[in-house]
Amino acid sequence: MAENQRVLSGMRPTGRLHLGHHRVVESWIELTKKYDAYFFSADWHALTTKFDETESLRVNKRQIVIDWLSAGLDPEKCHIFHQSDIKEHAELHVLFSMITPLSWLERVPTYKGQLAAFQEKGKDIATYGFLGYPLLMAVDILMYRPIGVPVGEDQLPHVEFCRELVRRFHHLYDCEVFPEPSSIFSKIETLPGTDNRKMSKSYDNCIYLSSTAAEVKDKVWQMVTDPARIRKTDPGHPEVCAVYTYQGFFNKEEQPEICACCKAGTIGCGECKKKLTEKINAFLDPIRERRAELETHPTMLDEIIESGNTAARAVAQETMEMVRDAIRV
Ligand code: SF4
Repeated sequence: MAENQRVLSGMRPTGRLHLGHHRVVESWIELTKKYDAYFFSADWHALTTKFDETESLRVNKRQIVIDWLSAGLDPEKCHIFHQSDIKEHAELHVLFSMITPLSWLERVPTYKGQLAAFQEKGKDIATYGFLGYPLLMAVDILMYRPIGVPVGEDQLPHVEFCRELVRRFHHLYDCEVFPEPSSIFSKIETLPGTDNRKMSKSYDNCIYLSSTAAEVKDKVWQMVTDPARIRKTDPGHPEVCAVYTYQGFFNKEEQPEICACCKAGTIGCGECKKKLTEKINAFLDPIRERRAELETHPTMLDEIIESGNTAARAVAQETMEMVRDAIRV
């Protein structure tokens, strides 16, 4: 793909980001090296399932941006904005909703699954907004007429949805407004939770980018190790141990030696965890420093978001001019 073309990605501001998210931000940083990149906090999306839990939404919106910036996203090399600050998203959503067949929304693979999962937890999310969330996602993307969207495999149907919508819009109004966005695969190695399950807030198995050194120590101390190892001299099985998996991410140089010593029963789990704690804390220290700076200078954050909003709004207004002309509204 040619340089200086737009790409876009976003995250729902539903709480603190963890180490697993850091890997996503790293892939975003890579995108900023090649493209004109836009990143947004998808606060309206958070409402599709958490419409009744909005107490922390404003705080979370700021915090997610602080997390991105602390993790190394450079606001000089991309545009960072809040979805709800660009009201054109709502207008395009209404206009696209007029031409989107209901069956397209109902057949989105995650729709029925998520409805059932929330139902089990005693929450009814069978709302108009939740049914329409793939359309809102398509709007968020198409508004910026990007050439591509970074995706994991589970998000492919959403990009396909966008492409179908583009074709339908062009066919109905005999126009060429949007490029059909392609999927940009970013290879992100998944970091498991501290219990070796999927890293998730609901499992309480995350280490957050904003965790203090003491919190990291506690979390690592609770990590699941090889249950067959009672004494230091018992030969271990590092492949079943979460600490060992993490050593592979944060202590790559020492991981082979740890593997050999664990198998030979010459390193204790306490010592192994101590090494990991030090490595994770060393990894998080510069992130903590950047966070502290942003938290003590809130206007810096306001300016970054305002500048991102301005850039996003300019593209959005241009898109809406073309859309209104095409529809003749
Ligand atoms: S020594 Fe390390 S790798 Fe081996 S079981 Fe203990 S914590 Fe896991």
